[in-house]
Amino acid sequence: MKIFTETGLNNELLRAINRLGFEKPTPIQEKIIPNILNSDNDIIGLAQTGTGKTAGFGLPLIQKTDIGKRSVQSLILCPTRELCMQITSDLKDFAYYTKGLSAIAIYGGTNISPQIQALKKGAHIIIGTPGRTLDLIRRGILKINGISTLILDEADEMLNMGFKEDLDAILKTTPEGKQTLLFSATMPDDVRRIADNYMNSLVEITAGRKNSGAENILHHYYVVKASNRYPALKRIADINTKIYGIVFCRTRNETKDVADRLIQDGYNADALHGELSQSQRDHVMQRFRNRSLQLLIATDVAARGIDVSDLSHIINYNLPDDPEVYLHRSGRTGRAGKSGICISITHSREGRRIKELEHVTGKKFQYKIIPGGREICERRLFNLIDNVENVDVDESKIESFMPSIYKKLEWLGREDLIKHFVSVEFNRFLEYYRNAPDLNIVPEKDLFIKKGRGNKTTYTNIYINIGSKRGMNPSNLIALVNEAMRKRDISIGKIDVQRSFSFFEIDREYDQKLLSAFDGAIYEDQPVIVEIKSGNKNIEAGRKNGYSPHHKPTGNKSKGKKRKKHK
Ligand code: ADP
Ligand code: MG
Repeated sequence: MKIFTETGLNNELLRAINRLGFEKPTPIQEKIIPNILNSDNDIIGLAQTGTGKTAGFGLPLIQKTDIGKRSVQSLILCPTRELCMQITSDLKDFAYYTKGLSAIAIYGGTNISPQIQALKKGAHIIIGTPGRTLDLIRRGILKINGISTLILDEADEMLNMGFKEDLDAILKTTPEGKQTLLFSATMPDDVRRIADNYMNSLVEITAGRKNSGAENILHHYYVVKASNRYPALKRIADINTKIYGIVFCRTRNETKDVADRLIQDGYNADALHGELSQSQRDHVMQRFRNRSLQLLIATDVAARGIDVSDLSHIINYNLPDDPEVYLHRSGRTGRAGKSGICISITHSREGRRIKELEHVTGKKFQYKIIPGGREICERRLFNLIDNVENVDVDESKIESFMPSIYKKLEWLGREDLIKHFVSVEFNRFLEYYRNAPDLNIVPEKDLFIKKGRGNKTTYTNIYINIGSKRGMNPSNLIALVNEAMRKRDISIGKIDVQRSFSFFEIDREYDQKLLSAFDGAIYEDQPVIVEIKSGNKNIEAGRKNGYSPHHKPTGNKSKGKKRKKHK
């Protein structure tokens, strides 16, 4: 593993890197920076999103720029306005100590005159979307026949968005001897064609497995009825009190609808989609970046290339049709070594698609159960109490108000006072979640695949002291077992949920492991008791005999770690 000082970058750039807090080059940067600095080869950089490609090309590009020469030396093409602005601002950060470097962003959907003015003053690096760039070339304002470097960033996405002709037209006006750098997360045929037609003496640099999901992203999925997507999303947002993420929707209308409902329900959320004017989009993005918004509801195109760091979650309100889109979406979290969770809200017939995504990402997807109302309220409540405990109290600011407040609340004792404070914050939640239904449905994988193998497996009958009274149902039971066993493919046979206890069958191979997995477990503050049903008769017989196990509560066990469905 290299350090930045070994990449050949100059002191100004190293200082800027230091200022940004980058400690060491990412794998693609390690390979590509020396390559760009020391050669004029054309390069294809293939790496998943969030791997630091911008600095990978941006830093050496700045170093190779002849600041004294006031002419366009490099053109960077990228698919969206947001990405254009992002790259420009990244370049300015990298050039923080490089005196005199000028970089200009040109993109559509906004008045062209200021861009023309800026271009007339001259710049070293132009960052543009294909449409506007071509427009300015055709008007004779932008001259790229002298550039030494051409960069195609997110080439796959530019082609997906229909910029093929614009790209061809632009590429034709670039000079022969330039260096071309093409970056892409994937390598579909269209991208290959661009490379074949316009690039010479190619070097292909790949970091990480092609098309694979980043290492530090966890993939979770929930299974609900399609009509329950929205309440499921709400619960996911509610249980993750500090959530900061993007919710991806299929269409503009769905984006608007989900955002409207969230706003109405009191969340810090807003929509980003193509129908907004540019200034509205900027406004939304600014609020999201400074964290006034916790949830950005977006279509794929609108969110393309946005680099907001530290996103905690990506939520697929629907699974995308194309697994590559899933990769792009999930790449918005877990950036530069940080961890992130990519959540998919699915319905019962999408088990096969989860399998497909597991294949594409090379990752195991974890089935999660939508938390119940009680669990959510508990989590929120503790979060609130935590905040109350840890808030900074600035005596000097509140001092003058306190006497009259004390006086007004005089009649309340300490405990009542706490109850009142909690209720102010909490009545909305308690009301919403009173009688909240279970939204989970059993994923087909767990039900059918396992039952299908039924005759080969021998089962052991198991008793568990949790029944429907405490929210047990077949899907919860499967999830509970899966979680306790930390394994998802254990065969579960018949399930019989009674009011205060349940029976289920488990593959005989695993029965002893099951007992130890539940040893000391707690479910909603009570010890879980799991036993092999005596004589191992079938479930029907067990019920007829009025099987009713008697247990001595094992007091010391309740000290064991609390079993939580979600971490
Ligand atoms: P990509 O273009 O590959 O999707 P970006 O260039 O947008 O990724 O970088 C993703 C994030 O990683 C950005 O927030 C960037 O500031 C950060 N980053 C880039 N290089 C490093 C590094 N060497 N160390 C730490 N963070 C980095
Ligand atoms: Mg990028």
